[in-house]
Amino acid sequence: MRFTPLIERKRDGGALSAAEWQAVIPAYLANEIPDYQMSAMLMAVCCHGLAPAELRALTDAMLRSGARLDFGGWATPRVDKHSTGGVGDKVSLVLAPLVASCGVAVPMMSGRGLGHTGGTTDKLESIPGVSTDLTLERVKSQVERIGVAMFGQTEDVAPADRRLYALRDVTGTVPSIPLIAASIMSKKLAEGLGALVLDVKCGSGAFMTEPARALDLARTMVELGESSGCRTAAFVTAMDRPLGRAIGNALEVEEALQALEGKGPDDLMTIVKVLAVEMLFLAGRGTERAALAKVVDQAYASGKAVAKFRELVEAQGGNPAIVDDPGALPQAAVVELFESPVAGVIASVAPRPLGQAVVAMGGGRARLGDQVDHSVGFVVSGRPGAKVLRGEPIASVFARDDEGARIGLAALAEAFTFGEGPGPLPLISHRVTSAGVEAF
Ligand code: URA
Repeated sequence: MRFTPLIERKRDGGALSAAEWQAVIPAYLANEIPDYQMSAMLMAVCCHGLAPAELRALTDAMLRSGARLDFGGWATPRVDKHSTGGVGDKVSLVLAPLVASCGVAVPMMSGRGLGHTGGTTDKLESIPGVSTDLTLERVKSQVERIGVAMFGQTEDVAPADRRLYALRDVTGTVPSIPLIAASIMSKKLAEGLGALVLDVKCGSGAFMTEPARALDLARTMVELGESSGCRTAAFVTAMDRPLGRAIGNALEVEEALQALEGKGPDDLMTIVKVLAVEMLFLAGRGTERAALAKVVDQAYASGKAVAKFRELVEAQGGNPAIVDDPGALPQAAVVELFESPVAGVIASVAPRPLGQAVVAMGGGRARLGDQVDHSVGFVVSGRPGAKVLRGEPIASVFARDDEGARIGLAALAEAFTFGEGPGPLPLISHRVTSAGVEAF
């Protein structure tokens, strides 16, 4: 294939045809297009974007590069949720079993920690014995049996994304809305879903720091999902502070367990409920969101949600006893309190330094293949807008040694600001569906 003329066309603001994108992706995977040429193309896409038809063709070609979950004629509706990533974001741990306990199947493929953001598979693996390394056949049979599986991306799902993402990572071409949308949606559409709900995080701790760009990404992914026959809705949610109180793998599992009993922090409970209702709505479980909210409340109150989580843990090789005894989760050797250095009002709690500190304390990966210490992290009780006394404990650090605790305390000192602030972003600012954008 003569690729140079296609790069030149994109460089000059033109478009590739669907057939051209469909040819480019297999040629790249077959090493007929070298990385240096693909890098130039990715940069041209970063600068000029993609027309909607190009984005659909690129996503479809990436999806077709690998295997897909195929549930054949199985009638149970299947829905998933994807978050663009944040700090303290344990929503998936609650949402997947909760929605499955309401009769909608959830085959949930999740990522590992990426940069300062945590990953659902790492969190789940803090439960002794749990494996998220499942083949697609195993996912299929587990979903058909218990209605839910939470698994990592296998080698054979969207391999084109794997290669392109690694190339984007080293060529300054990650922050492109069409490239992010194609990357996320090519993986999600491989799950054989009827519907998908997206949680697009916005704020200083998210990929998208600007509300306008977050909304643009949400709109782009909804259009892409809908045009591929998957009913898709997106919510733009705040990531200018951590979600909930716990940050770090095992600490987040413990908080997720509280949430599954209906007793999690308000911000977490609100987001989970809104997303759960939307998943049930899109799955056709009902036509009135208010009635579906009652179905969700009932799943907590009856114990069905937490029972489904227990079933999930057991099905994936884990010790279900942690559900009743979170003390069996990995415990940090050193715990230190962080006290407010002033009397006044908390202006902000920046998520990014806390996410970065979890990685530095051993709770994430600096390099591929690094071992993760699941026990480390933070519990942050001080929230933006709260009045505090000087010396009042507003957070705790969980570390494996004194050096880790020192890193954690320094990160807390950087994350907390006091006095007048710009005010927090709305927890949920917009819902985007095929019908358009609604302020929430
Ligand atoms: N997550 C992905 O899967 N892909 C991107 O490009 C960015 C975030």
